[in-house]
Amino acid sequence: MSSDDGLPPLREVIAELGLSARKALGQNFLFDLNLTRRIAREAGPLAGRTVIEVGPGPGGLTRALLTEGAARVVAVERDQRCLPALERIVAAYPDRLSVVAADALAVSEADFLRPGARALVVANLPYNVATPLLVKWLTARTWPPWYESLTLMFQREVAERIVAKPSTPAYGRLSVISQWRTAPRILFDVHRSAFTPPPKVTSSVVRFDLLAAPRGDAAPEMIERVTAAAFGQRRKMLRSSLKSLGPFSDALIADAELDPTVRAEDVAVEGFAALARGLAARTARS
Ligand code: SAM
Repeated sequence: MSSDDGLPPLREVIAELGLSARKALGQNFLFDLNLTRRIAREAGPLAGRTVIEVGPGPGGLTRALLTEGAARVVAVERDQRCLPALERIVAAYPDRLSVVAADALAVSEADFLRPGARALVVANLPYNVATPLLVKWLTARTWPPWYESLTLMFQREVAERIVAKPSTPAYGRLSVISQWRTAPRILFDVHRSAFTPPPKVTSSVVRFDLLAAPRGDAAPEMIERVTAAAFGQRRKMLRSSLKSLGPFSDALIADAELDPTVRAEDVAVEGFAALARGLAARTARS
């Protein structure tokens, strides 16, 4: 399909640059302009906004974000082989695209923004670092964070864990960390045949909007610790699974007004926030 940005079709760019997809970098490229533009629109409105994109690859989604009106895109790409393709997009959109050649897990995104400015994050994430990146963003120390929303492509199974409700099989750490401060929702599925090369499973685009207030005040590192302990042994009762947090675990459960015989999968997000507050208080005391 031809594009209306004057740039050559992506398949041609890839062939010319000899950009074979690398599995180790989670490279599954999108060439369908209708699809990339749909993702860009769902992340919007983009007019006047700065977008941070992780893993632009040869730039399919990047081009859609620019066509759909983003004022500025900062694209963080680890694979140096993609840089020549991205430089061509920089030339086609003067002053609107900056490419950062780096590992997205290691960058501090706020450094790319004007002080106080907030970005939209949009990405077709590499599946092998999708979860650590999401956790990095959701556990930002400063809240509200440097972003206003996240619109991200995941494997369907990960998306289902993100939006899962308590007492369902997919409910776990990722559900609690996601739903504590944001409202995640699955926008649509993307069949594996839309990617080159096709991954093994269906993907889903998920949008996370910030909640007006978190579902319970707590420090992110404490939420991480209590959910790791509780879901590390998800079939056990809380009174057993939380023992690893310290000798005060029974008191922690009582203070949070939780039943010690319930399992982690039956505890609501607010319950984990209460446990996290208690853990912070007891850690500070000891
Ligand atoms: N956005 C492109 C698209 O939709 O066609 C490519 C998406 S592909 C699923 C993931 C991209 O993330 C690849 O270009 C890969 O090189 C890049 N990537 C993988 N690990 C990365 C990391 N740690 N930091 C930045 N980019 C990474």
